[in-house]
Amino acid sequence: MNYSLMHPREQLVTIMQRIYGYGMTTTSGGNISILDDDGDIWITPAGIDKGSLREEDIIRMRGGYVMEGSHRPSSEYPFHRTIYQKRPDIRAVLHAHPSALVAFSAVKKIPDTAIIPQAKRVCGTVGYAEYAIPGSQELGDKIAARFAQGFEIVLLENHGVVAAGTNLLEAFQRFETLDFCARTLINAAGLGPAHTLSEDQLKQSDLGKNMMLEEFEPASHPSSEREMRRMICGYVHRAYKQRLMTSTEGVLSVRLDADSFLITPSGVDRNYLDESDLVLISKGRREKGKAPSRSVVLHREIYAENPKVNAIASAQCPAATAFSVAGVDLDTRIIPESYIVLRRPPLIPYGKQFTGEKDIARIIGESSPVALLENDAILTTGSSLAEAFDRMEVTEFSARALLNAGILGKPDPVGDQDILAIEEKFGLK
Ligand SMILES: [Zn+2]
Repeated sequence: MNYSLMHPREQLVTIMQRIYGYGMTTTSGGNISILDDDGDIWITPAGIDKGSLREEDIIRMRGGYVMEGSHRPSSEYPFHRTIYQKRPDIRAVLHAHPSALVAFSAVKKIPDTAIIPQAKRVCGTVGYAEYAIPGSQELGDKIAARFAQGFEIVLLENHGVVAAGTNLLEAFQRFETLDFCARTLINAAGLGPAHTLSEDQLKQSDLGKNMMLEEFEPASHPSSEREMRRMICGYVHRAYKQRLMTSTEGVLSVRLDADSFLITPSGVDRNYLDESDLVLISKGRREKGKAPSRSVVLHREIYAENPKVNAIASAQCPAATAFSVAGVDLDTRIIPESYIVLRRPPLIPYGKQFTGEKDIARIIGESSPVALLENDAILTTGSSLAEAFDRMEVTEFSARALLNAGILGKPDPVGDQDILAIEEKFGLK
């Protein structure tokens, strides 16, 4: 799908459907706009159901001032226009009140994006605008002043958030990523202090080993490989819909033979991923003209070390990532099913995923099919794509259950004797 060629009306409706569909805005709340090359601003209307928004509902503000359309523009239009006036590079503005970010705005704290490296890269630094009455020029001036200082996303005191970008997809990705950080930090709050990454640690993730791989031109694409491409896309879309992945992060790979596999690309929106985006890796080389995920070297080492592993997933799921950010053991003994499927996932220190891929590959095995990468992601493996994906789901479900149990009381896992009985009955090593 070529998002950049869509008409502004279509882009606005598509993104509003995504925001509403993920429970990140209500029927009445939220507004988004686009500034086009002619200087016209396209914006969502006031008082129209966000769950059933149509292209004909979108308002066009010619030159920013002359209204065209069958509704009134959003009451927050003043700040949209003022942001465009102050920052000529900004071409899209998105505003909403998702509950996790509202929680931060109510306690007047900015969510720290340095909890995982990708979040800081996507969001940039986050600004903060003091309270002013909704729809007022005063609010517009306060928000626009922050964007004029160079911030790309601004938290509004006792209100919500405004994200901007050079296009609407970029603004959406910043918004979604900051919301992910807020949800993860709220989840982590019950576990202990969240660890944040230093500038040096953040830089470690920019090694770019994925792009250092040599390129090659595949002679053909056999039917079995095409089938696998379709399966991977199906699972990525599922993961995205279930919010196990964000639009910018989340990796799946599947082994094709001893030293070749398919892997998701870097920098492609997970919601729009299609078969042609996936990257074939063979003998350590990457398919010509494509950028594989940054974790491609780690995946290759895991396949080389573990002949029974045929699929690998890694993703930032907000409950499980809370454990990796707080550096707390994810105790899978909470129910037998979690222990059987996941065993006891080790917590791998930050940095190993970039420089110690072989070490991680040796930790992974039948008795450790899943690992938590500190301040990064969960890593799951399986003998099939379905098994690696299921382990990702079970990890997230178990993490959520543990977080909820912690609110109710002290989680009390299955005892050691019962664990031995489970291992015996299910033949676990
Ligand atoms: Zn608002």
